Amino acid sequence: MIERERNSERGRGTAEKTDGKIEKSVGMIKEAVERHGEHIAVGWSGGRASTTVLRMALNIDSKIKAIFENTGVEYPETVAFIKRMTKEWGVNLIEVHPTINFWEIVKKYGYPQIRTQKNRVPKCCYHLKEKPLKDALKAFDVNALVDGIQMCESHMRFMVIKYRGESYYQKTWGIWKYHPIATWTKDQLTEYIMENNIPQNEAYAKYKIERTGCWPCTGYISWENVMVKTNPKFYSLLKEKMGSRTLDHYYQSQVAPCRGGG
Ligand code: SF4
Repeated sequence: MIERERNSERGRGTAEKTDGKIEKSVGMIKEAVERHGEHIAVGWSGGRASTTVLRMALNIDSKIKAIFENTGVEYPETVAFIKRMTKEWGVNLIEVHPTINFWEIVKKYGYPQIRTQKNRVPKCCYHLKEKPLKDALKAFDVNALVDGIQMCESHMRFMVIKYRGESYYQKTWGIWKYHPIATWTKDQLTEYIMENNIPQNEAYAKYKIERTGCWPCTGYISWENVMVKTNPKFYSLLKEKMGSRTLDHYYQSQVAPCRGGG
């Protein structure tokens, strides 16, 4: 059996298990590309979901733009992965950078806080991501973005998809948004990645993390669990600066006395 046939059989296996989700996702990207032509781009973070969506989009239009928001505090493996895949896949990459860096933001506004109804976009996210992205969309005449967000990732993402759907016009940004793998489960994504040999950002294996992104981020619930693994030295320093627990306290807190059983 030739390799193409084998791949196609493997693909069929996944399609069955995903109940037609792959076809639906590919169909959404195809329609979006036909509708927006050269004004569409893929939001590419270097994470497994957006890399999968980028691969799907490249199969449809090899010239499609990909926007990487390099916040300046990405894992080095992420930056290396973006560079490597851009070369290997011939990605039409737009890399955007903020005009103020993370440490200047911390000095001015403090460490990032968890998003709330009142504080939907922390100052840090605004300066390192939102503003540079908005500027790039304007500069490159992009009016539609395809990304790899999934409902299963967080409550916030679940609510966004539930209320807005998998594609919609975002008035405040003046662009169309497409979330082709929004309803995929984590397992479905993993299976698709394996069956289609989609390369992985080395940061996942190196730090044993579930998500890539800004390494010093303190703006989400489990940031301590992540940072203590990815950068224990910095975690200790940070906690000392914050005037609270040290790394030893963190490890002690993981021995949960109320977790009964045997
Ligand atoms: S994810 Fe965290 S560190 Fe990165 S820009 Fe947003 S708030 Fe800042």
